[in-house]
Amino acid sequence: MTDDGAVDVAFIGGTGRSGSTLISRVLGAVPGFCAVGELFHVWDHGVRRDELCGCGVRFGACPFWTRVGAEAFGGWDQVDVAEVLGLHRGVARVRHLPLLGAPRLVPSFARRLERYTSIMGRLYQGVRAASGCGVVVDSSKVPGSAYTAWRVPGIDVRMIHLVRSSYGVCYSLTKELPNPDYRHDLMPRQSPARSALEWSGFNLSLDVLGVLGVPAMLLRYEDFVAQPRAQLDRMLEFLGRRADPAALAFLGDDRVELRRTHLIAGNPMRSRSGPEPLVADEEWRSRLPRRSKWLVGAITATGLARYGYSLPYAGSRRMTPV
Ligand SMILES: [Zn+2]
Repeated sequence: MTDDGAVDVAFIGGTGRSGSTLISRVLGAVPGFCAVGELFHVWDHGVRRDELCGCGVRFGACPFWTRVGAEAFGGWDQVDVAEVLGLHRGVARVRHLPLLGAPRLVPSFARRLERYTSIMGRLYQGVRAASGCGVVVDSSKVPGSAYTAWRVPGIDVRMIHLVRSSYGVCYSLTKELPNPDYRHDLMPRQSPARSALEWSGFNLSLDVLGVLGVPAMLLRYEDFVAQPRAQLDRMLEFLGRRADPAALAFLGDDRVELRRTHLIAGNPMRSRSGPEPLVADEEWRSRLPRRSKWLVGAITATGLARYGYSLPYAGSRRMTPV
């Protein structure tokens, strides 16, 4: 924690199905770190729809989130959620990214952004106060949230840019996964072509944020699963934190001991606890149709090369992270 009262935020950026929930839960288990899930969803999924917190109870009944609301705003009922959601829509969409680089060019945009980021600043401060932790881990992932976090006053944001092979991401987004928030519903699915375009656009936008001056480190999901402790050490060094090795015993070479957390939104893993094996999910190699592999490879070739993955292919040879 810095001495000037600023909140340190570890922002996990990347596409869906890149392993952000796993990384978030691992960082959140380090003493002094509080993982909150996809924080910008707190308004819609939490306050408005009262979905399940990672601890297993509804948002409105969770003592942690109740405390956060009290610390940040004097209670969630003091916030005009419709206003916050409207502000978010007005500043954090993909088309706003160029303006987020220079918001003063459009005064009305700058005013909306200032109002939105002041609310988010209070929220980060509230998490810090309620948790007593110096680092808030926000896995909101998407570029719009990363760019707006960069503009929040009073926080010191560092971004872990999490990348997973586009093949794995695109295949995962075709699978049927249960949605823990709606018992009879499934997690959203989409076509490999759409996922590949999103993968390219999101990752490029996050690269640009690094160029604009936000401290950023690249973490490949495949590297984390292969060497979890070494990659956690890298993240802690990047975040300027140290931890007693004994306090990191929850993370082994091939498993992690998950503890109960209060993650909001994110994939179903957010509510699991106990031992969890760490194995690379490479199902896409055999299950992603050949035509889809070709399409994903063609769309994401530049990005794959940029992040050190071997060049795309459409056959059955192994593609391993370099
Ligand atoms: Zn909770």
